Amino acid sequence: MIELEEALSRVLAGIVPLASETIPLRQAAGRFVTAPLLAPIPLPPFDNSMFDGYALRSADVCHASRSNPTRLKILGDIPAGTDWPGRVDVGEAVRIFTGAPLPEGADAIVMQEDTLPEPSEPGTVRILEVSKPWEGVRFAGEDVKAGSEVAKAGDKLTAARLGLLAALGFGVVTVSRKPIVGIFSTGDELVTSGRPLRPGQIYESNRACLTPLLEAAGATMRDFGIVRDGLEATAAALKEAFAECDAVVTSGGVSVGEHDHVKPALELAGGRLDLWRVAIKPGKPFAFGKLDGKCLFGLPGNPISAMVTCLLLVRPALLRMQGASATGPKSVRAELATPLENDGNRRHYVRVRFTASGTVEQCGLQASHALGGFALSDGLVAVPPATKINAGDRVDVLLWD
Ligand code: AMP
Ligand code: MG
Repeated sequence: MIELEEALSRVLAGIVPLASETIPLRQAAGRFVTAPLLAPIPLPPFDNSMFDGYALRSADVCHASRSNPTRLKILGDIPAGTDWPGRVDVGEAVRIFTGAPLPEGADAIVMQEDTLPEPSEPGTVRILEVSKPWEGVRFAGEDVKAGSEVAKAGDKLTAARLGLLAALGFGVVTVSRKPIVGIFSTGDELVTSGRPLRPGQIYESNRACLTPLLEAAGATMRDFGIVRDGLEATAAALKEAFAECDAVVTSGGVSVGEHDHVKPALELAGGRLDLWRVAIKPGKPFAFGKLDGKCLFGLPGNPISAMVTCLLLVRPALLRMQGASATGPKSVRAELATPLENDGNRRHYVRVRFTASGTVEQCGLQASHALGGFALSDGLVAVPPATKINAGDRVDVLLWD
């Protein structure tokens, strides 16, 4: 049995980054950039108006008030998207709209709500408030300077970052290719849901929960179904999956029983086992090996063991393949509402959920087959061997996503 940290560093040590590809920005959500990106233009691109109102010279309105408005001559109209060629001089103003370029000569925008039309004298406006120089102006480059770094290699293209890149005019972006991940479940007792169950059979559930977790880590999934417990059948399934995938994730068949064939099948298929058995609960029988330089993640069959090892050992590997700078699970600190005790010799990953008050509590039966409590959980709290964590203590909660 080896410690999780040792297992993780051995898994990550052999990961080869995938090639990069240049794709339309609109298809790049969730991808990882492979080289730094610099802003080709400043943001905002030019000085512009913060609101609908009048562009003017602040010195002209330094005595303006509601009881004694300042009257200015209106030179014209600047809707957003136009480039007004004129110049604002003493005693003059221009009608302007949000986002329109600040005209030459003007150094302030007074919002429409602080002005009144002058019905007796069309073509003029009454200004009801003083304005300081540069009030109502959004300056070129105040948000992002031209040439500044807007993404580093390994950054994920989140919705917010995609918005920034679109505003900067990026039509395409260079990102890591997505890993193609094959998955199959092993077990003679397993039946695909939706079909009738015979005595002794159970519905197969691991692919249903592993697939979205792997997809969220960037994988394009290839599903090879359920494979019967047998050395040849398992080796054939591994060969088929490795032929078309960058990595393969299996569940079941990695324990010590006579019906556990994944490890010998990897060797029969021409691969080599690198490590087996990690000192965590659930998830101890985790196996990892290689075939043609590609990774096999042999997850335990018990559903919670499969999910925990997927989060802690497979997800980081897929992220590393894509060059991601952060490969660990997302985590938040929270106060424990219930004490957690581990009297065993392996680190225990306890399923917890957030309460309405923002604390976390243990949820459901804490056993490796128990999907009921797992389904309620938001994440995991690691409890070291022979340790009690008290209610009120602060802990790191590893989030499922
Ligand atoms: P194994 O690791 O193959 O010995 O499986 C351990 C336990 O997990 C057994 O109770 C299996 O029936 C169960 N199990 C294995 N694979 C799955 C699966 N894909 N879905 C649900 N339960 C499974
Ligand atoms: Mg089995």
